Amino acid sequence: MAPLEVIQGDITTLTVDVIVNAANSSLAGGGGVDGAIHAAAGPTVLEECRGIIDQEGSCATGSSVVTSAGKLPAKWIVHTVGPIWERHGPADSATLLTNCYTSSLDAASYVGATSIAFSAISTGVYGFPKELAAPIAVSTVATWLQENLGDTTLQDVTLVCFDDDNFRVIRQAVNDLKHRT
Ligand code: ADP
Repeated sequence: MAPLEVIQGDITTLTVDVIVNAANSSLAGGGGVDGAIHAAAGPTVLEECRGIIDQEGSCATGSSVVTSAGKLPAKWIVHTVGPIWERHGPADSATLLTNCYTSSLDAASYVGATSIAFSAISTGVYGFPKELAAPIAVSTVATWLQENLGDTTLQDVTLVCFDDDNFRVIRQAVNDLKHRT
């Protein structure tokens, strides 16, 4: 299995092939990690996002699209639309969050990326409880890697935690997974 790493830091600084943005369905930029990524990447990425929306309409929750990464050290940005906890409810939010991780890995693999770094999708303004999102993120990535080993260019997956709480619960989820396998 490709190494699954957990780090604490700012995803915009990472030199990886793909960073995964917690976007909204209109790819319009916003606050949180989305705002940080667009601020660091520069206006070309937002222009690309507008082009995608013009052609394809708004993005479904759980889906992912790829753009270039502008001024970032990454090569591509995968923009994934996380569930809104209050709107989708616990059961659908769990399914949709799984879809975010899976569709992002599919998209990164499709463009031939070897490394990908995820932000903690939906755990900010979208209100997904961090302790529930963490095991979903970890188990979805681990399952995807197992299922796609041999078919994917991806070799390194990093889960990037900005805040202390996510760093704690995501590391815990990785440890729990190690003890189960
Ligand atoms: P969402 O709307 O999907 O909840 P947010 O951007 O509000 O997205 O939050 C998602 C996660 O991104 C939060 O856990 C937040 O701590 C984290 N985050 C915010 N800024 C950054 C950054 N620069 N790098 C990595 N993660 C970040």
